[in-house]
Amino acid sequence: MMTEPKILIVSAPSGCGKGTILHEFFNDNKVFYSVSCTTRAPREGEVDGTDYHFWTVEQFDKTVAEDGFLEHAGYSDNQYGTLRQPVLDNLAAGKDVVLEIETQGAFQVKEKRPDAISLFILPPSIAELRRRLYKRGTETPEKIEKRVAAAAGEIERSTSYDYVIMNDDLKDALRDFKTVYDAAKNGDGSADQFKPSDPKIINMINEVLKNA
Ligand code: 5GP
Repeated sequence: MMTEPKILIVSAPSGCGKGTILHEFFNDNKVFYSVSCTTRAPREGEVDGTDYHFWTVEQFDKTVAEDGFLEHAGYSDNQYGTLRQPVLDNLAAGKDVVLEIETQGAFQVKEKRPDAISLFILPPSIAELRRRLYKRGTETPEKIEKRVAAAAGEIERSTSYDYVIMNDDLKDALRDFKTVYDAAKNGDGSADQFKPSDPKIINMINEVLKNA
């Protein structure tokens, strides 16, 4: 298929299982997955250069000063950023680029690259998101509550995304993710049921925000 390479922005509050969705997706697609830089410490099992580039605050600030990030943002006491050059290089090489970033960064990319497609993955509920974060057990209760609050804010902003899907059942989420990806590639309306202009999507977002 000869279509222009695209930037696909994927946002989801931590604990939404987007890592799993993206991992499944990249098993059978030729897409460049952008590895972000962060000042956060690695979690157990995370690999430098694969999950993130784990940088010092000094390295991060230097790259901000040199304008080396396509976008960057603070989230939950840490800094996160997408290096510009690898994104541009891969687009030039004809590959689609997936950015897994939070909402502030997503809006920065949309402003600079209006042709980018944005997708928000909802957790089934705030209560379920909290449960997943506690189950993961990588953070103190205080930090988890901070992330839950940040997630609620992000979910409210999901109405500004091109597409919104829910990760309740992984298989369904993966199917919906592919539908959105194909529609974005083909530039057709085959994923319009996932647009927030559809009242069903707005209802779904409001339901998730209930019982916080
Ligand atoms: P976590 O610390 O759970 O890995 O990520 C926290 C949040 O930062 C998630 O919403 C994740 O998508 C987001 N994030 C990861 N990399 C980047 C990035 O390069 N830029 C921005 N703006 N957000 C990022």
